[in-house]
Amino acid sequence: MDIQYLKAWEAELNTCIRCAYCFEGCPVFKQLGWEVDSARGKAVLTYGLLTGELEPSDYVVRKIYECSFCKDCTERCSANVAIPDILAAARADLVSAGFVYDEHRELLDKIKQTGNIFGKELTPPIREGETPILLGCRFLERSEDAQRYLEILEKIGIKPKVFDEICCGMPFGVLGYKDELIHHQQEFRKRLPADEFICLCTTCIFFIKKSYPELNPKYVIEVIRERLPNVNVKKLGLKVTYHDPCNLARGLGMVKEPRDILRMIGVEVVELPTKGKEAECCGGGGGLLVTNLELAEKIAERRLNEAIALGVDMLVTLCPTCELNLGNIAKRGDKIEVKNLLDLVWQALK
Ligand code: SF4
Ligand code: SF4
Repeated sequence: MDIQYLKAWEAELNTCIRCAYCFEGCPVFKQLGWEVDSARGKAVLTYGLLTGELEPSDYVVRKIYECSFCKDCTERCSANVAIPDILAAARADLVSAGFVYDEHRELLDKIKQTGNIFGKELTPPIREGETPILLGCRFLERSEDAQRYLEILEKIGIKPKVFDEICCGMPFGVLGYKDELIHHQQEFRKRLPADEFICLCTTCIFFIKKSYPELNPKYVIEVIRERLPNVNVKKLGLKVTYHDPCNLARGLGMVKEPRDILRMIGVEVVELPTKGKEAECCGGGGGLLVTNLELAEKIAERRLNEAIALGVDMLVTLCPTCELNLGNIAKRGDKIEVKNLLDLVWQALK
């Protein structure tokens, strides 16, 4: 197999000292239990592909794609080995060699045809204000929620400018379609009215900050936390638990901000057994929802059971993908409600 993208990671792969610190928090390893399912196992696989000692097979490809990109391994790794970035490079080399999942191709074709992951014509709730707002595909599709989240911004003194956005391109990068990503990024940039904007989605903001260094977006909760003390809020008097999305807590280090906002609106947080940068993943990232839904849901079920054991009425989070994956499991058991933290802010500002 021709190796192009993995070459850049050879030195980093050589810093892996095989210590296994990355086993403890890996949600995939917890479910499947074999060394190959851990970050260390993935480092060995990718090193084998890089040196040519390992030939790609369906099994190897499956293992390279069985990762939720939660970054727990990188957080714990004494050598800072960036396994998700290395896997993204490995995936790109596998795609170039023709190892392509039909489900991935279908998803990316939907984005190419319609600009969003749903493959539907979605009309953004256009606003002609001053501050550009990027909703992200998932909130673009949840149009009533998007309207409410824009109302939050209006109530805290922002004049939203909603434009005809397209997907930030994250699925191309994560699934290994790096050449197509470059083309998509150009289209994404063309639609953006300015380099500074407010982003509503945790995954978009993480991906944009990493992949578009020239842009200067703010995540919506930074703005809400800054301005909420200046407006009247109702105290909701709820008791909830908060699930830290991986891209927000480990990716962007935003652990305090959501908790501050919940406190400001009179919501008590009962913490899950793991929280902040050590929080367990919901299983919805890294393309796992399309690659292996069963595995993604098993990971979500484990997380949700931890929340149910706390005896709270509600799990709140910020990432729409966490909300989807945890929410789907919650609906089947009817024991806990899953909500976006922004819904509670809207309620407090009503
Ligand atoms: S924690 Fe880091 S150095 Fe240790 S085995 Fe895992 S990837 Fe390698
Ligand atoms: S990113 Fe998460 S799922 Fe992937 S290897 Fe690291 S800990 Fe495991």
